Amino acid sequence: MCGSPALRPHGPAPLSLRRCGACRLVFVDPIPTPEEIAAREDAAFHGGVADHTEEMFEAYYRNYPDDPVVRGFRGVVHQLKETTGGGTLVDVGIGTGLLLHLGAEAGFRVLGCEISPDSARRATEEFGVEVLVGDFLDADLPAEIAAITMGDVLEHTHDPRRFLERAFEALRPGGVLYVAVPNHRSTTFLAADLLSRVPALAGLGSRVYVPNHYWYFSPDNLGQLLEQTGFRVELTRQEAPYLGRYAFSPPVRFGLTVLNALGRVTHLQARAEAYARKPLR
Ligand SMILES: [Zn+2]
Repeated sequence: MCGSPALRPHGPAPLSLRRCGACRLVFVDPIPTPEEIAAREDAAFHGGVADHTEEMFEAYYRNYPDDPVVRGFRGVVHQLKETTGGGTLVDVGIGTGLLLHLGAEAGFRVLGCEISPDSARRATEEFGVEVLVGDFLDADLPAEIAAITMGDVLEHTHDPRRFLERAFEALRPGGVLYVAVPNHRSTTFLAADLLSRVPALAGLGSRVYVPNHYWYFSPDNLGQLLEQTGFRVELTRQEAPYLGRYAFSPPVRFGLTVLNALGRVTHLQARAEAYARKPLR
C-alpha cells in the first residue's frame, strides 16, 4: 500500500502473511482474486467460514436486541448525522442491514451495497431497505452522497485503496466516510503473534488471522491510506470487540477478556475506526 519493497514474512508460516517494514501493514500474499473473494463472502454468510455468523445474524433481524453492537451502530449514525447534517447514507457491506435500518430511523435516506445476494435479500425482507447487489467498485450509486459507512469491509477486499478511491469519488464535497477495521496494532494481535512462536500454541495464535481477512491495518497505516486518497481524517477511535455474540471456549473467552482490558489501558484495542471527510474543495 505504501510502495515500500521491504516486505518480511509474518506470523505462522502456513498463513502466508507478509509485513511491510515501512508502514507495518500485514497482508496475505497472494491476495485472492475478486471472484474468489465474492464466493468466500457468500459462503461466510451461510456460516461456511464461521459457525457463529448465522446465529449472530438471526439475533439482529427483526426484534434486534439493545446490545453493545446496536448501541455502537447508533453512535456511528449519530456521529455522521452531526457531521454531515444528513442526506443519503450508503452502507457498503451491509451484514444484517441493521446499520441501514438505524440510519433510516435517524432520518437518512439509506441505500446498501452488498456482494452477497442472500445477505442483501434478507436485509430487504427484514428491514425494507434498498440494497444494490454486487461489487461496490461497479455499483450504480446515486449522486450527492452525504455519508458512506464501511464497517469490517476493507480487510475483506481485493484492493482497499480502490474502495477508498471509489468512496471519495462518490461522496459529495464535505461528505464523510466511516471506516472500521480490526486493529493489528492491538493487544489481541500482539498476544496472537507471540503465541504463534510457540509450536504447541501456534494454532491458537493463528485463529485471529481469519480466512476471509486479507489486510491487517493499524490506525496509522489506515490513516495514511485515507489521507493519500484525498480524505482528511477528522476523528479516530479504538474499541474492544463485543465478545458476547461469539462462541468461545471458557479459557479463550477469559484470555480475550483480559486482552480487551489491557487494550483499553494501553490504547491498543482490537478495533480501529476513522471518520474521514472529503474536503469541500
Ligand atoms: Zn508499507
